[in-house]
Amino acid sequence: MSDTSIRNTVILGTGPAGLTAALYLGRANLAPLVFAGNLPGGQLTTTTEVENFPGFPEGVLGGKLMEDMDAQARKYGAEIEYELVERIEFDARPFTLHAGGKAYRAQTVIIATGASPRLLGVPGEQTYWNHGVHTCAVCDGGFYKGKDVVVVGGGDSAMEEASYLTKLANKVYVVHRRGELRASKIMADRALANPKIEFVWDSAVDEVLGEKAGNFNKANRVRVKNLKSGETREIAASAMFIAIGHVPNTKFLGGALATDEEGYLKVDHHQQTSIEGVFAAGDVHDRNFRQAITAAGMGCASALEAERYLTRMGLA
Ligand code: NAP
Repeated sequence: MSDTSIRNTVILGTGPAGLTAALYLGRANLAPLVFAGNLPGGQLTTTTEVENFPGFPEGVLGGKLMEDMDAQARKYGAEIEYELVERIEFDARPFTLHAGGKAYRAQTVIIATGASPRLLGVPGEQTYWNHGVHTCAVCDGGFYKGKDVVVVGGGDSAMEEASYLTKLANKVYVVHRRGELRASKIMADRALANPKIEFVWDSAVDEVLGEKAGNFNKANRVRVKNLKSGETREIAASAMFIAIGHVPNTKFLGGALATDEEGYLKVDHHQQTSIEGVFAAGDVHDRNFRQAITAAGMGCASALEAERYLTRMGLA
């Protein structure tokens, strides 16, 4: 089945980058079609309080911020489809996008598919996936009230996850592979001062261990290795939350657009990818800042550039 119309711009992703692009294109009367993908609202929906988005001196819940961005984009004519784009044909114009068993055509495309949590790849990670191994404390922390849990990582995400989990868990171990944190000072200081957090420095997770619980496998301890001494120890913990960064969601593009060695899309100064008329915004190409506000800024820039391209080519 095909959508018969030719869209000016199709946007992939409803995080701050995608929805800001949608808002700008909507206000330009270009009626963008937006695909929400498999995490509508993006990564901010898996966080709690956002303290560093300008305009919210008291902070704002990540989910609420995204709801408001969604409403604002729709108000100006953005159409949002809750489907995942599986494939794009870039060899003919307009481009053809395949989503939910339908084909869509677009003169320009903005890719704002963000990034997904990086995993450790250690034994037990898959065995206890969602039964003790998680990547989102806000989503799954509630299962571990009064228990001991482990957080892996030393960046802002790990500190945020650990601090959040102290409100639920009995104790939080933070396992970090070095002796110093990567997190920003404010987040690091907050976690370091939290009496419910114990840091396990210079250490890597070797394996997640557990037991059969009815029909499920359930994690109950994490074996960690001190990378300096080589000693291993088992931490009794009901869950391990992995917070070691992200990988860009570009696999579905099948290498059609130029990326760096880690899969981040390459863009020029106009947010344009290696194919003219195809733009990228947010964490899918930004390995440097990775902030909601920078993603929103890039979404705005990509929309303005898409609009200029459509005008230049006489397409809209
Ligand atoms: P990140 O800054 O890249 O930190 C990743 C952490 O995981 C690092 O400590 C890294 O160790 C560790 N790590 C990476 N690969 C690992 C592996 N295979 N095994 C064990 N440890 C591993 O990622 P992030 O914390 O997700 O933050 C991403 C961006 O989002 C940052 O710009 C951050 O400032 C931002 N952010 C901001 C907030 C906020 O302001 N509220 C909240 C969350 C995230 P090393 O340190 O040794 O490299």
